[in-house]
Amino acid sequence: MSDSVFPISPARAWVEINTLSLKHNLEIARKQSGCELMAVVKAGAYGHGLEMISRILESCDVAFLGVANIGEARRIRNAGIQTPIYLLGATWEQEREEIVARGITPCISTMEEAVSFHHIAKRRGVRLVVHLAVDTGMGRGGFLPADLTEKLSDLLKLDGLSIEGIASHLSSSDEDETFTLQQIASFQDTIEKLGGLEKFKWRHLSNSGGILGYANHCCNLVRPGLMIYGISPITSFQEKLHTVMSLKSRVTLVRTVPAGHSISYGRTYVTTKPTRVATVGIGYGDGYPRQVSGKDAEVWIRGNRYPIIGRVTMDQIIIRLPDECDVQCGDEVELFGVNISVNEVAILADTIVWEIFTGITPRVERLYIEA
Ligand SMILES: *Cc1c(COP(=O)(O)O)cnc(C)c1O
Repeated sequence: MSDSVFPISPARAWVEINTLSLKHNLEIARKQSGCELMAVVKAGAYGHGLEMISRILESCDVAFLGVANIGEARRIRNAGIQTPIYLLGATWEQEREEIVARGITPCISTMEEAVSFHHIAKRRGVRLVVHLAVDTGMGRGGFLPADLTEKLSDLLKLDGLSIEGIASHLSSSDEDETFTLQQIASFQDTIEKLGGLEKFKWRHLSNSGGILGYANHCCNLVRPGLMIYGISPITSFQEKLHTVMSLKSRVTLVRTVPAGHSISYGRTYVTTKPTRVATVGIGYGDGYPRQVSGKDAEVWIRGNRYPIIGRVTMDQIIIRLPDECDVQCGDEVELFGVNISVNEVAILADTIVWEIFTGITPRVERLYIEA
């Protein structure tokens, strides 16, 4: 049976991604930092779609795209995007041949990694551009500052490598000012000890929280992730950013259930009177967090907020409506976006916006709009 004999049904769950808002937020990052940008597109551009978002960022002249692994780098290259790509974490042996062959820029955390890249580059007759990672307090990768100053001369002897940058990462830029200032000072101090600013073409430290919350005089590159997708880790900056992603679905059913009727798995909600309810075609199988169950999370339909009742199920949720209301089957429902902040959902789900964004599953269609 050919699929084309059936009418095309509207998507059950989709995200609308506003590309003008993305560009706006990118310019805020540029202005706020006064630096060049490494736009972070790991995890499918935070769920926004790796290839599409990377292509837009390329058109906005970002200096680098930041990814988590070689698989993401490969997808970007296979989409025909030429922007330099930077790997945000340590690499293992089996990934390195392809990294060198594709000319992806890794950050180096250990002497072993450096030597391994050096040998591969020599064998291939190329010089691999690398950045040095320094661990000023993230504890996830990089040389310890004292270690790096000691090893620099050995690193410089590896002529398969061209050390073009130095990087560190902030662990608490949206939580702990004292510690963040210590990290910035430690990074500055390390650069001084390695010979000063001019030794490194690229110096970078700041994620979104670092860009929005802190002045930083030793860097010329910043690595915004969350903020370009419209969410500020620092609340006071939120109004400067524009919403990029809206998660949407549709009402599949509207009806009235009697008093004493239980709603959803586990019967955590029971009506106290005859109640008008709407079923909506989205659930945790789409990445809408099950953890908001029982927390009075709200959705937006035709200009009003309505609460979710009972547990979020895999593909459906149930909404309580007032007795008199114009909500109908087929109506569009916003789970988060322009009207309901994704931050609100993240708080109710006891998690962070990063996790909500990256949790949107593949069955959710990504629609790109310019409005
Ligand atoms: C993910 C990541 C970023 C981006 O962080 P945001 O808080 O989303 O801006 C920057 N740098 C590194 C090393 C990262 O891993």
